Amino acid sequence: MRILVIEDEKKTASYLKKGLSEEGYTVDVAEDGEDGLHSALSEEYDLIILDVMLPKRDGWSVISELRKAGKQTMTLMLSARDGTDEKIKGLDLGADAYMVKPFSFSELTAMVRSIFRRGPGRASDVVRIADLEVDVLQHRAKRGNQVLALTPKEFSLLSVLSRRAGEVISRTILAEQVWGLDFDSDSNIVDVHIRRLRAKVDDPFEKKLIHTVRGMGYVVREEQ
Ligand code: CA
Repeated sequence: MRILVIEDEKKTASYLKKGLSEEGYTVDVAEDGEDGLHSALSEEYDLIILDVMLPKRDGWSVISELRKAGKQTMTLMLSARDGTDEKIKGLDLGADAYMVKPFSFSELTAMVRSIFRRGPGRASDVVRIADLEVDVLQHRAKRGNQVLALTPKEFSLLSVLSRRAGEVISRTILAEQVWGLDFDSDSNIVDVHIRRLRAKVDDPFEKKLIHTVRGMGYVVREEQ
């Protein structure tokens, strides 16, 4: 898998290059919008990670030129600004996904994996597993027609698990993604929250979606 990173902040660019290379991806970096667009048009990439604020040509312009030229390379846009308008603009212009800085490296790699798994197409903010619906943007979860009353941490835990449905996620990764802390092996914070989450997401319903994989972690999936 070949990834083009278009990012002018040298620190972020080299951090992304190093990290993604360690994950087994081949990574090229372009430091401004013109160079980035040129590489994106002349080379074949599986994914473009595109910063919004760039010298010479901004990320919006790069993606729209790319799509105008008929290039459908999957694109993940990065922005320092938080805001739904920005995100909608990126997705309207044909980005496949959008992430707001700062993000942890594991969030980024999870996103990259999920883009590759999903294939080209618009990012959806709503993840569905059986009758569970997790709206990542609205911070709302439902089973069937029933809205689940989750605390922010419970929601965050459920959304990490749901976005990577079918994948067993370790307690360490969950702790890092939800609490942003170095996992303390004495701490059972993840297990406690999984228990609370189950009480709301699974206990009232016949079909259980949150599963424990002994010695490995947790997975959200529909089991037959
Ligand atoms: Ca920038």
